This record gives sequence, structure tokens and C-alpha cells, in this order.
Amino acid sequence: MRVIDKHIVHCSDSLRGDVVEIRRWHLARGWRDVGYHFIIRPDGEVEVGRMLDEVGAHCEGQNLTSVGTCLVGRHDFTPAQFAALRRIHGMLVAMFGEIGLFGHRDFNPGKTCPNFNVREVVR
Ligand SMILES: [Zn+2]
Repeated sequence: MRVIDKHIVHCSDSLRGDVVEIRRWHLARGWRDVGYHFIIRPDGEVEVGRMLDEVGAHCEGQNLTSVGTCLVGRHDFTPAQFAALRRIHGMLVAMFGEIGLFGHRDFNPGKTCPNFNVREVVR
């Protein structure tokens, strides 16, 4: 297993979508697979994108040591999505220790992604 020290959260910036659709978008960009490890649908269902031992493609300069999670949505996310995000983060902490939790915008000030304060949602 690679070293993982960060969990980086994104939003899809779309009103709908799932792992199948997001994979299609990323393949259309020429990537070899969906860039995220987890996708959280509006109903709170968690879908697996890449395996955790695979490097993702979601945050320039941070992919080697991070896990990427994407909430489907633009500005409005559901309580079920936030609950799922807390579960995923708790699982990652159990697996890898007290890893950092970030939003994509923490590493790219030109972006607003994921459009909410992840550290307020996951305490
Ligand atoms: Zn992002």
C-alpha cells in the first residue's frame, strides 16, 4: 500500500451523476479511469472509483499521497452525503491514522471546489 496522508474532497459541479457518468467524463479527458477513489451520490450511496492502492487523478501535486472523494452536486449537498463523507473519513483514519482532511480549494486557491467547508462537516 502507498503512503496516504491526506483525504481531499471535491464536488462534481454537476446537478447529477454517478461513478459511471464521471468515469465517462474523465475518460473523455484522456485519463485512464475515473480520477476519484469514492463518489458520494445525492442519496448518500458511496460508489468506488479507483482502488485505494492506486494513485488518483483529482488534485494536482497531491495525488501520490492522497485519497480523493467527490460529492455529486454543485452547491447543495444532502445530509446523507455529509454522513457518508464522515463514514469514509472515519474509515480512512482507522486505516491510515490521523490523516489530514482538505477541500480541493485548499491546494488550488483559484478553485472553489468542493463549495463547502469540509472541516466543519467532518469534525
Ligand atoms: Zn475538485
